[in-house]
Parts: sequence; C-alpha cells; structure tokens
Amino acid sequence: MFRLNSIRLNHSKNTAEIKTVPLPAPSYVKIPMAMHMGAPCTPLVKKGDRVLAGQKIGDSDAFFSAPVHASVSGTVKEISDYRLMNGTVCKAVEIEADEEQKTCEFTPPEITDRESFVKAVRESGICGLGGAGFPTHVKLSPKGEIDTLIINAAECEPFITSDYRQMMENPEDVLGGIRMIMKYLSVPKAILAIEGNKPEAISEFTKLTANEPEITVFRLPSTYPQGAEKVIIHSTTGRVVMEGQLPSDQKVIVMNVSTAAFIHRYAETGIPLISRRITVEGSAVGKPMNITAPIGTMVSEILKFTETDTEHMNKLIAGGPMMGACLFSADTPVVKTSNSFIAEKDYREPVQSACIRCGRCVRACSMNLMPLEIEKAFRRKDISALQSLKTGLCMNCGACTYVCPANRKLAETNQLAKALLPKKK
Ligand code: SF4
Ligand code: SF4
Repeated sequence: MFRLNSIRLNHSKNTAEIKTVPLPAPSYVKIPMAMHMGAPCTPLVKKGDRVLAGQKIGDSDAFFSAPVHASVSGTVKEISDYRLMNGTVCKAVEIEADEEQKTCEFTPPEITDRESFVKAVRESGICGLGGAGFPTHVKLSPKGEIDTLIINAAECEPFITSDYRQMMENPEDVLGGIRMIMKYLSVPKAILAIEGNKPEAISEFTKLTANEPEITVFRLPSTYPQGAEKVIIHSTTGRVVMEGQLPSDQKVIVMNVSTAAFIHRYAETGIPLISRRITVEGSAVGKPMNITAPIGTMVSEILKFTETDTEHMNKLIAGGPMMGACLFSADTPVVKTSNSFIAEKDYREPVQSACIRCGRCVRACSMNLMPLEIEKAFRRKDISALQSLKTGLCMNCGACTYVCPANRKLAETNQLAKALLPKKK
C-alpha cells in the first residue's frame, strides 16, 4: 500500500466568488479535430460550407474518440493543419462566424437504458473536462462491475475555480449527472469529493443530498495533489490502483464534476459540447474571472476581454501552474480540455543547480517515487532502472519540481523518461 505524501500550496482562488461571464461571440474560431484522447476525428465539412452552432463537423469510426461540433454559425473558411501540444498534427476546421449565430434544432436525446445512455454521451462530444480529455462514453463502458462513482471536485491546482463556479452556479446539473450515471450504470454509491478549501460547496451539497444516503459528500484535505485519480481513489475509498491497473479494476469510476454536470445538461437540452467555462488568472490579467467561451475561440480574444497586459506578459500557461503546459503564443484556440489560462508578467526562469540529495522530492511524491533517481537513470538512458523505479506511475503532478531547492526540472524529466519505457501491448 502506498503512503500518501502531499504538499501544501497557496490556493490563490481569487476568482472563486466572481460569477461566470459569457465571452462575446468571436468572429472566428479554429476547431481542432483532436481535442480528446484516442483517434482524431475526420472533418465532415469542407471549405465554403455553411454551418450552424451545434452541428457535428467531425467524427470517427473509432469507439475511442469523440465527435466535434461547430461552436458558432458561419462559413467554413479553411480546413487547415493544427499542431497539438504533443507535436503531432491534426486537421482543424476554421469558421468565420456570421452575425445571426443560428443554432441547430436541439433535441434532448432519448435515453432509456445503459446502451442509449452511453450512445448519447458519445454523441454529445464530451470528454474529461478536468484536463485529461478521456472520452467519457469509454469511461462509462467498464468491463466489470462498478460499486462506487467518485466525482472529482478537488480542483487542487492553485488559481483554477472553473469547477467551483460550476458547482455553485449549477448544482442541480452536478447532482443530475451523478444520478444519471448511477441509474444507467447501476452504481449503488457515489462520493462527491470536494477539497476542504471550498466549505461553501461542501455545505451546499451536504444540504442538497440530505435525503440521498447513496450520495456522500466527502471533505478532502486541502493538500496537493488530491485531485489526481489514484490519490482521490485512495483518499475516498482506501483502495489502491496498482501500476498498470485502471480505476475500474478497483470497481470505481472517477469523473470530473463539470463532466458529470455537462452530461445532465446535455440530456435536458441536447446541446453538445460547444463551449467551456475557463478561469483566466495571473499577474498580467487586468480582470481575473471565469468566462464561458465557444470552443475554438482564440486565446488572444480572451486575453483582450480580460484586459491582460500582453505587452509585458512573458508566460502563458494552459491549465494550472502545477500541471499546465506553457503556450508559445496566444494565437491558439480554446479546446474541450481548456479549464484555465494563466498569464504572468515579470516571470523569471529559476536557475538550476546540482542535486544536494536532500530527499524533499521523494517526500513530496504521493506515488512514493524517487524523482532524483529517475532523473539519473534517464540521463544514463537506463530503461531497466527506469522500470525498477516505477517511472510509469508518475502522473506529472509537479510536486517534486515545486519542492526542489535546486530547481531541478524533475516532473518534466519524468515525462521524457516515461516516453522511453516500452509501450504496453
Ligand atoms: S529535491 Fe532536488 S535537490 Fe533534493 S534530492 Fe530531490 S532533486 Fe535533489
Ligand atoms: S511529478 Fe511524478 S515523480 Fe514528481 S511528485 Fe508527481 S508523481 Fe511523483
């Protein structure tokens, strides 16, 4: 059994009490065909086509994929190549928006049983909104029996409050999604796991579920990384997902809270995933807030709307400061997994020095890994040592890098080390 190490961070949830603001409709969107894990979609439209908001514009025959929908109405300007963060290239549908902003006729899906539920979830285009982008219908198709649904409402990264605003502004969607998953997948118990730094959400959901003993509101410690899948499973159930196992091997499904809420909203309205709630924060942002933005909106539009000092901005992160990825340009679109953009000014890259073998990185790692040894094995390209060091368990949480007094880029190195490991067949 692994021991749960964790670290304490400044939460800096400065936007927690600000109501979400809708971004004015953009004049142009660029919608990539790969915003989820799994097979990329093929565009279903061509240059010059007229599209309506909500129209399906990309799909794949693969089960491990999720369709893509137009987020605005307008004309397809181009089908272009788009380079993803991992360096691979997919197609993107560029749309010039029109004035009318017409939508498709949305019809709520007919859901009567498990099969029609999973089919509807796939049609909605939803994938994990917590950042991983795992297609939700795949998650809802486990091979074995599931006895517990864990709703991940930890939101343990500093700054990000988009899940919190979801919970406070649309609590009925959250509970509706939980009830639907429990009903159609025959899951007898659900745990809504919220970090202790969100007392109002804990109290609100405790009240709302007072007559539903099958749904428990669980207070997670306010330490990092409580939202990591293996960590939240252990914290809420005591179960351990071993290396190479899936949560379903431990009879649990873990789902992000905004994903669960979206499922309910889609079942009620038939509106597919075409927009996202996003936290915009950081020292360069004039008006930090949560916004809802159509998928495909350029990040530069969002920075303009939030009065960000782009002239002095020298770091732009998609995601949180711990696990997010730096963007080299704001000329990049909002994707399904975008939950936050952090714009910093006066950022200085920390200077690295030699490891002093203090062991802080080991004590910080909730997977009980030895980041300093992984770094050494990576430099030697010693694959057998990387395997013995269980490098595959690293979840890139960044805790080791955060605590290192020598500013070693440990989490980053671990990802490169993981890429050296033989792929599972
Ligand atoms: S925290 Fe940094 S300095 Fe300390 S042992 Fe780990 S790598 Fe070395
Ligand atoms: S990034 Fe990996 S090695 Fe570092 S603390 Fe997180 S899980 Fe452990």
